[in-house]
Amino acid sequence: MSRVAPVRVACVLLTAVAFSACTNSAEQSTQPTPRPTQAPEPGPGASGGVGADGLGDPYYPDDGNGGYDVTAYAVTISYDPPTKRLEGDTLVTATATAALSRFNLDLTGYDVASVEVDGKPATLAREGEHELVITPAAPLAEGAKFETRVRYAGVPEVSEDTALGAGGWQYTRSGGAFAAGEPHSASSWFPVNDHPRDKATFRLSARVPDGWSVISNGREEPPVSAGGWTTYTWVEPNRIATYLTTVGIDKWIFERSRLADGTPVVNAYAPGAEDKKGVQARMPEILAFLSGKYGPYPQSAAGGIYLNENIGFSLEIQGRPIYAKWADLDVVVHELAHQWFGNTVSVKNWADICLNECFASYAQWQWAEAVQGEDLDNRYRTQVARNAQRDRFWNRKLYDMGAGNEFTAVYDKGQLALHALRRQIGDPAFDKLLKDWIAAHQDGNASWLEFEELAATVAGQDLRPFFDAWFHQAAKPADEFLYPGSLRK
Ligand SMILES: [Zn+2]
Repeated sequence: MSRVAPVRVACVLLTAVAFSACTNSAEQSTQPTPRPTQAPEPGPGASGGVGADGLGDPYYPDDGNGGYDVTAYAVTISYDPPTKRLEGDTLVTATATAALSRFNLDLTGYDVASVEVDGKPATLAREGEHELVITPAAPLAEGAKFETRVRYAGVPEVSEDTALGAGGWQYTRSGGAFAAGEPHSASSWFPVNDHPRDKATFRLSARVPDGWSVISNGREEPPVSAGGWTTYTWVEPNRIATYLTTVGIDKWIFERSRLADGTPVVNAYAPGAEDKKGVQARMPEILAFLSGKYGPYPQSAAGGIYLNENIGFSLEIQGRPIYAKWADLDVVVHELAHQWFGNTVSVKNWADICLNECFASYAQWQWAEAVQGEDLDNRYRTQVARNAQRDRFWNRKLYDMGAGNEFTAVYDKGQLALHALRRQIGDPAFDKLLKDWIAAHQDGNASWLEFEELAATVAGQDLRPFFDAWFHQAAKPADEFLYPGSLRK
């Protein structure tokens, strides 16, 4: 995710919504957080045959659910822009990780018409903001593969907090709509185990009135028209973290091509966003550059979704980032870097968010170095000097920063921290570390502390003092960590 970026400028320039987000960030950043503790590993999340109503993330304990592992989502929706009515029919294929007499899915809003488990009617109760509590006709055995079908309809509830990235369903000036947001957004439009730890394949069939069209993740199948409506189908064969799914409904202007390796490319521009074609035309070059740094492009498809909206963030939707109207080339580099850092390798807990944002933000530096010939040591020293007396800049943690503080320091302090790490261990080890990290965890989840372990192994150094100074402490690092290697004064 990119916030209204660069945030320092955007706070002045952007909308009232965006401004309040910047203000909140600054306030949050001044609040000390407790000494780092390792986020607990997820438990199975089920006890006594009842699936837990959360997946165990300390920051968002109600997100996701326990007791099962989703393998595939097949989402079918019909959406009518004039009435804003969505009719959904979602099939969730999962494996029970414990014996289950009941379990939960996450869905916000809507009238639920029916729930079936393995073709038999199930009992539904609704709890809290988004819990569907489902009791199948017969208990599920541990290890059983089962299918849950939920039919639902209504006008999607709009997120109130788009600038902070809570996200969800949002409407556009064109009369269309899209779903996006981090740390959760999928439950605003389909029933889901809404936490990045439960990744699954994703298929969307979306029916809209003729004249409208649909963009989503992955590869497209030919649209089918009947009775004044057209159904668009998108298939993501790679497992996807749920917040990286999207649907966009608009009168899209599509561009189709292929990367050099044959990967299909679909770009979609909302009316009014056609001026972004020039920026998006750089995508193959950027992906080639990033592949050289991190390893082969890990997604099934590529592209970009360009909104004609000044929302508060751009987001690294898997294979096809969604861009706010203010997005520039730097943002495109950032969101594409996430296809490795965040998308194929996803966080275990939101405390690990530096794995996504520190690296995507540092990719912007790597790009500037390679393409613009920028001296990154100069850039680093300038930024350290600029913030030398700003306690508020340094007193933000990069690991386990606390719920609500995930999307602040990782963008700027995170860049400095990774550049310092690079100088601490040297370019050969740094380059190997990034490639080894992706190769080790591709199509999976990983934690920040696992990254620290791999870094120490690859570098052959005890990096605990370095990581403590930069990532665990809410303070400016001592000079030995602030100026390692060629940064030494
Ligand atoms: Zn990001």
